[in-house]
Amino acid sequence: MKLVFASNNKNKIKEIQSILNGSIQLLSLEDIGCHEEIPETADTIEGNAVLKANYVTEKYGYDCFADDTGLEVKALNGEPGVYSARYAGEQKNADDNMDKLLEALKNEKNRSAQFKTVIALNLDGEQHLFTGLAKGEITLEKSGTNGFGYDPIFQPEAYSETFAELASEIKNTISHRAKATEQLIDYLNARK
Ligand code: IMP
Repeated sequence: MKLVFASNNKNKIKEIQSILNGSIQLLSLEDIGCHEEIPETADTIEGNAVLKANYVTEKYGYDCFADDTGLEVKALNGEPGVYSARYAGEQKNADDNMDKLLEALKNEKNRSAQFKTVIALNLDGEQHLFTGLAKGEITLEKSGTNGFGYDPIFQPEAYSETFAELASEIKNTISHRAKATEQLIDYLNARK
């Protein structure tokens, strides 16, 4: 069975391919000749994952899955959420985004936050959603150089380091993305 992952991240695709059972062949957007930017105009994380998966299925006719991720901060009523990449502007700069978030939480005692990844899967005419959460806190300042995005200011529950201070092998077992991907793979591998 051929299944498109609506991504061009070769590492992500290779990693998932290696855990899937042999009957599933993952294709990238490049593999199917999709070179345009897929619109991400929904106002929820779920909505954007669904938009991307549907775009590929409707326009290219393939079964497909797509992911979308955001950081939800309790004291900010779930912001930046679906707008995480461009929280401080269209330049999508990680440092600007973190500075804006630290400023917004300057006098805030409640620093609870969670990363949320939603994967939308279109398969055999049905749609399935898989959600992975990583709960934790926003730190008072940036710390660490690993990872990307908000990693230097996110301290996952049960750890005293930020995501950016943890080894990638550890982050990759406890992260929102790892948890959502695990559910997707379990679902796909359980199919006959
Ligand atoms: P995307 O949907 O995977 O492109 O993620 C949207 C935005 O959320 C990214 O641009 C980052 O700002 C943030 N983000 C997603 N995943 C992570 C993560 O694992 N660590 C830190 N920031 C992340």
